[in-house]
Amino acid sequence: MEFNKARNIIGLRVLNDNVIWLWIKDKSVVVVDPSVHEPVIRYIDENNLHLKAILQTHHHSDHIGGTKSLIERWQDVEVIASSKEKRRIPLQNISVKDGQTLNILGEEVKIIEVLGHTSSHIAFFLNGKNPVLFIGDTLFSGGCGRIFEGTYQQMYSSLERIKSLPKNTLIYCAHEYTKANILWALNLKPKDQDIKNKLLEVEKKLSLNELTIPFLLDEEMKINLFLRAKDLEEFSFLRANKDLWV
Ligand SMILES: [Zn+2]
Repeated sequence: MEFNKARNIIGLRVLNDNVIWLWIKDKSVVVVDPSVHEPVIRYIDENNLHLKAILQTHHHSDHIGGTKSLIERWQDVEVIASSKEKRRIPLQNISVKDGQTLNILGEEVKIIEVLGHTSSHIAFFLNGKNPVLFIGDTLFSGGCGRIFEGTYQQMYSSLERIKSLPKNTLIYCAHEYTKANILWALNLKPKDQDIKNKLLEVEKKLSLNELTIPFLLDEEMKINLFLRAKDLEEFSFLRANKDLWV
């Protein structure tokens, strides 16, 4: 697979299967969903970097747990989160809404609200020649987030929004769930050659101790049953089936 490595984005694997993304430019770092702080501080110190901003996609503790310690260490950090979550993401100092654009590390970043996993989940979209999407827990490779607070319709609409982005968008999600998701998909579509190939690719990466993310939207649309669902009814069947599968 050809990844566009136009930006320097590093993944730190923490807890069981979380990935904290560090977007680095010159000596500045933007951290996405720091579940914990220690590995982030260690990486920043070892590489003589400075923490500039924290992007929060939603309020779950395995996304915001490290924020307090990080802003104690670097006081001028921007903490960017949904304006709907001032209570559950109380450390935010830049509150954003759907459709708003910000300038981060000299690039335009658009806020895209993707409801379903929670009632206020947002994604961060870096447009331009090499688009990037930090999607949190809304989309995973081979899967999508559980619907905790939203409705099936909201999650389906969120996935439709993601599908409308440029096909070369590189997607960074917050969990390494790919293999389990692909095994579930193969259970439903045992003869699907694209999904079979994806399993081989994923197993190879994991055997080399590599992350299977980020992933390209274009390729994901071929193997992700949730993105392939033709309507809300099919999506809802898949989501309910997956909830019972694990
Ligand atoms: Zn979550």
